[in-house]
Amino acid sequence: MASEEEISLLVIVVDVNPIWWGQQAQREPQFTLSNCMDAVMVMANAHVAMSRINKLAVIASHCKDSHFLYPSQSQPGGDSTVDDACSSGEVEVTGGSTDTMLAGSLAKALCYINRVSKELEVGQEVKSRILVIKAADDCALQYMNFMNVIFAAQKQSILIDACVLESDSGLLQQACDITGGLYLKIPQKAALAQYLLWVFLPDGEQRSQLLLPPPAHVDYRAACFCHRNLIQIGYVCSVCLSIFCNFSPICTTCETAFKIQLPQMVKGKKKKFKPS
Ligand SMILES: [Zn+2]
Ligand SMILES: [Zn+2]
Repeated sequence: MASEEEISLLVIVVDVNPIWWGQQAQREPQFTLSNCMDAVMVMANAHVAMSRINKLAVIASHCKDSHFLYPSQSQPGGDSTVDDACSSGEVEVTGGSTDTMLAGSLAKALCYINRVSKELEVGQEVKSRILVIKAADDCALQYMNFMNVIFAAQKQSILIDACVLESDSGLLQQACDITGGLYLKIPQKAALAQYLLWVFLPDGEQRSQLLLPPPAHVDYRAACFCHRNLIQIGYVCSVCLSIFCNFSPICTTCETAFKIQLPQMVKGKKKKFKPS
């Protein structure tokens, strides 16, 4: 028997965006948020049942906030439930933004993973991964925070997997590609539990022995810092690497003034260099 125990920590981030799930309930009454949570429970239980040392966390990600559904920490007496998470989400929607707070939830997941790895006993090791169950559309406003979280995960070799319910997510495609995780937009929402068990339950090592869905095309467009539009070609500050869709003589991020090479200046330089 090996003396070292490797703990497998799985953090599931579920997009519980109340607007999207409200529309979804009208589109497909047979697949609601509570059906989705049932499928998540099946996978979560399977993960915990695979080994007595496996660990689990579930985070509900909604507008402007994210909550730990498991392990529950907010109320010592009662567990916070999906209903709590959704109702508080609805209250906050009236404040303005209706985008899912995905970058914040992922940051929370990384913090939790960090805490677990700090609390390990001697001889224990932890291998962590994050699974995002994505419902609503991407929010380009979160691009910067999102990319920072992805690179932090990559540095700590934490896999990010994405199970996308509806429209493709360029941000998650990049997250999975960069961290070595799996991106899958499932063809049938009602079959969520099956995809979770077949595709996302096996960890990185076991996956090498499986024939999994082929890798998705990755949308590597970046959001410009000026308008948060996704662009294919743009201007990049040579000092801080900020991206802009329009040329500006001064970088708005680091305030570097760019030297613009006008035709006249180029001519002058050439004359100077001729004698030498
Ligand atoms: Zn722009
Ligand atoms: Zn700059």
